[in-house]
Parts: sequence; structure tokens; C-alpha cells
Amino acid sequence: MKYYSTNKQAPLATLEDAVVKGLAGDKGLYMPESIPSLSEGTINDMKNRSFHEIACTVAQAFFGDDIEPETLHEIVKDTLSFDTPVVEVDDNIYSLELFHGPTLAFKDVGARFMARLLGYFIKKEGLKQVNVLVATSGDTGSAVANGFLGVPGIHVYVLYPKGKVSPIQECQFTTLGQNITALEIDGNFDDCQALVKSAFMNTELNNHMKLTSANSINVARFLPQSFYYFNAYAQLDRMGKAGELVVSVPSGNFGNITAGLFAHRMGLPVKRFIAANNRNDVFLDYLETGKYTPRPSIATIANAMDVGDPSNFARIQDMFGIYGDPHKAICELISGYRFTDEEIAFTIKRVYNECGYLLDPHGACGYQALIQNTLDKEETGLFLETAHPAKFKGTVDKILDTDIEIPAKLKAFMQGKKQSVELSKDFADFKAYLLAQ
Ligand SMILES: *Cc1c(COP(=O)(O)O)cnc(C)c1O
Repeated sequence: MKYYSTNKQAPLATLEDAVVKGLAGDKGLYMPESIPSLSEGTINDMKNRSFHEIACTVAQAFFGDDIEPETLHEIVKDTLSFDTPVVEVDDNIYSLELFHGPTLAFKDVGARFMARLLGYFIKKEGLKQVNVLVATSGDTGSAVANGFLGVPGIHVYVLYPKGKVSPIQECQFTTLGQNITALEIDGNFDDCQALVKSAFMNTELNNHMKLTSANSINVARFLPQSFYYFNAYAQLDRMGKAGELVVSVPSGNFGNITAGLFAHRMGLPVKRFIAANNRNDVFLDYLETGKYTPRPSIATIANAMDVGDPSNFARIQDMFGIYGDPHKAICELISGYRFTDEEIAFTIKRVYNECGYLLDPHGACGYQALIQNTLDKEETGLFLETAHPAKFKGTVDKILDTDIEIPAKLKAFMQGKKQSVELSKDFADFKAYLLAQ
């Protein structure tokens, strides 16, 4: 399979190139040249298959030309060391729990897959060490650091703003050791991101070491997310609930929903999708007006979705470019909802009290969108619960006036010893540090 850029100005890339480079030379996002389809028989049979088998079928369709089957199965198996259960929350409304991975957020799936795929290419091609630079405001750093932990041939540098991430988030990437180095930057998130960008553009640094990025624009991070859409379908099919499926995805950079749209294009019978947003609602605006106008992001209590210019919008537009009127085609399949912090808090409270289910602020948007969309009797609503509520303990405790329990997995991180390197926000310091490695 070859990969083209959404900007159409860069040459076609191999999977290896697309994964190692991340972004195409023309600053577009890589897309597979074709989206393979799975037969109705294959999809109907998924109810009889394990998550691992389902994921292998999907992975084979995308990556089968580029990786031998045994290796691909090994990568998939290693990635999915945890389950993604579907749980009933309300009448005809189900939660797809994506928080059972090592860092308790859905990003574990993409980060673990990408790490293993990159590790495979490094070994196969005998590449010298690849260095992953990732700037984080909290969640991405933990998923990437843990996903890449112990993968031979890769070193990860996590840049985070000193004093600006929660203690729970900080311990998820500062206590790991091995091939993970946490860099505590005396600045804010934008300073961290600027340092990473400057590093990618610096010739001397790039001659000294091989640098790459692991954010959601990477095809190896977003495509594997389609695995759990199929797995959710299989689970609902077993319950006789998969007939008319409406899927609601809490969205920020729109990587997760794009993976769902890929699954749909491959043949997954989803009736329609909902993009659930917090107050950062440029996508909803696009649905309503046909115009896409990026804006600076606004801080909300669902902070992993505080994105004012979702990078995967380019992929969605490209996917629907095959229709004469892409905007109309997008509107026919996807609707949008926006929620304020007050609405999110109200939803968390109501669902906790009335259904006994603890939502996180992101999943709450997904759930509430299904309620407001008023499903037909035959329809089943499925929302993606993208992180464990304990990751947002401060917010959730305040809303519910409780002291929610921190899962053992998260506690274990908190017992490790913090190790980080303190650096100023000056690029010269960061560069000198990297050159000395
Ligand atoms: C990253 C993230 C999102 C947004 O996912 P996108 O793929 O960027 O749309 C939603 N919820 C949580 C908890 C996240 O960490």
C-alpha cells in the first residue's frame, strides 16, 4: 500500500516512509491510496471472533502488503494487551470503554501500535537509533512514553511544561526510566511545542540524530484505532444490538472519529456518526455553514478536546472528496453537538446518580450527544469512553463531591521515583542537551 498526501504535492510514500516521517513534505497528512473493504461475511462472522482475531483481519487489510503476517499478528497482539468492553449505561445506550490500557486512555492503542511498527522498521532496515520528540500538555506524553517503553532502537523525549500538568499525569512519564527521558521545561505547552518544531527544522541536530514525531497525524497512530470499532460491533452483535448503530465520538483532533469513518468505509454497518465537542466547535460550525474556520482553542474541563484547528479535518475532507458535494455527504453521515463545561458537569452528575455510571468529562460529551440526538426505538447508541474518570480526578471529584478511587494501575505510577531533566525554554539549551546525547 502506498500513501499519498492530502495536499497532493508530495510524492507517494511507502508505509515505512509515512510512519517515520509523520507529516508529508508538503505538510499534508498521509492517506492510504485505497481503503480496503471487508466482505459482509467477514463482518458478520466477527461476533464469533476474539478482539485479537478481529484486529488482525483489519490490520491485514491495511498493512498486509508491507509486513509479513506473523510479524503483523505479533505487533497486533502486543498492542492489544487489554480489552475494549462495551457496557450498557442507559436504555439502548452503551459505552465503549477504551480506558483499560496502561495509561487509561484510548491513545494507548495507537501509540503502542506505532511504537511496535516503528521498532520493526528500525530492526528490518538496520536504522540507527530513532529519537521521538513529543510535546505534551498531559495525556499524549503518557500514552506515547508508555507505548514506546522498552522498544529497542527508539528513545523518547517527552517535553512538558513545569508545574502545568497534574501530578497523576506527570508520574506517568517521569517514573519510567529505560528509553524514556522526561524534559521539564520552564515554560508553557506552547514553548514545549515550539522547541520540538525548532528541533525538526535544525540541520545540525538532524545530522547528529534521527528525529521523528509521534502525534496523531501519524498513520500508524490513527489507523489502528479502527480495530476497536469492529470489536464494539462484534460485541453488540452478540447481544443482538448491532442492527442500527449510532456512534458518538468525543472529538478533539478528530483522529479517533476518522478511524471510525475508515471502519465504516471498510464496510462496518454504522448508520451514522456524531462528533461530540466541548466549546471548541469549529467542526459543528463547518456542518452548519459549509465553511471551515480554525480558531484559537478555549480551555474546558474536557481538556484533551481543546483543539481549535483539528488536524484530521483534512483527512475527513479528503475521504469525502469522492462525492460531488463533500459537505452534503459529510452532513448525511455525521452530525455534531457542542457542550459547555456546565452541561458536561450536569451530565456527569445525572448519569452517576441515575444510571450508576461514572463518566469522564470527554465521555460525557459523547453520551449527552446521543441523548440530544433522540435515537429511534430500533437504534442503538454507542459512545466512546475515551479515558478513565480518575485521570480527571480533580474535576470529577468537584462535580460529584466525592473522592473517586484511583485504579491500582494509576497508583503504581505514583509510587515510582520521579526522574526528569530541567531545561529552560531557550532552544539553545535544548539543542545543546540533545547534541550531548
Ligand atoms: C485525545 C483525546 C480525545 C480526542 O481525540 P481525537 O482523536 O483528538 O479527536 C478525547 N478524549 C480523550 C480523553 C483524549 O485523550
